[in-house]
Amino acid sequence: MGRLDGKIALCTASAQGIGLATVLAFVKEGARVIATDINISKLEQEVKDVPAAGIEAKMLNVADKGQVTALVDQLDRVDILFNCAGIVPNGTILDCEEADWDQTMNINLKSMYFLCRAVLPKMVAQGSGSIVNMSSSISNVKGVPMRFVYSVSKGGVSGLTKAIAADFVSKGIRCNCICPAAVETPSLQERINASPDPVKARAAFVQKIGRMGKPEEIAALAVYLASDESGYTTGQELVIDGGWGLA
Ligand code: NAD
Repeated sequence: MGRLDGKIALCTASAQGIGLATVLAFVKEGARVIATDINISKLEQEVKDVPAAGIEAKMLNVADKGQVTALVDQLDRVDILFNCAGIVPNGTILDCEEADWDQTMNINLKSMYFLCRAVLPKMVAQGSGSIVNMSSSISNVKGVPMRFVYSVSKGGVSGLTKAIAADFVSKGIRCNCICPAAVETPSLQERINASPDPVKARAAFVQKIGRMGKPEEIAALAVYLASDESGYTTGQELVIDGGWGLA
């Protein structure tokens, strides 16, 4: 018996990294997953061996309100919403042009407003639901250099999470967010490769954190938060950082 048997999960940013690992973990635990990504060809390639009964791959740009509402309108019910999409721009406030601010806020935060607002009426009608949002340790949890607009957007994810949790706890709906430190994903590898000395940059990450997290370790927490096992947990920022925040 799976821990998510009978549940319908809507997931974003499913084509790689934490999103893909979580989709595969949800399917393994018995959920039926509507897996979405802006890069539909990569997503279809990645999930081609998953039995069709467990997964449906769909194109979704989370920053496009029309696409979000059109997709959610097609679904009869949603038990789990996993908001994973996010981008990681580099730089201080002085590097952040208004267009950078808008793009980051639209993909990292406004997308969650669109998705939660579209899905919540279904969860209210069902009298149940679990929303799991991807935040980051780099947020209101901890400040680090050169991650200005990313930190602001992820701090916003915490506020959105707590507000939704408070407003809908009496309707049987829970909302939590996950705050990882560095996780070994394609985009993290790209950021390391883009640094002046990638070997040194990787060593600095590993030295500080001990090791990188694995996408599967984040997915395991997402399964817990999505499942009824976490039924007494809502409005929380769950930090998963290998001890990074202790230093
Ligand atoms: P990634 O950056 O490797 O992949 C992101 C996925 O999002 C890609 O498949 C991409 O096609 C998709 N995507 C990008 N823009 C999109 C859009 N507008 N609409 C829909 N999909 C879009 O993924 P990752 O590193 O696993 O990160 C996933 C989430 O976890 C992000 O929110 C990120 O901020 C957060 N996070 C990551 C780390 C890390 O170290 N990797 C740490 C903390 C938090």
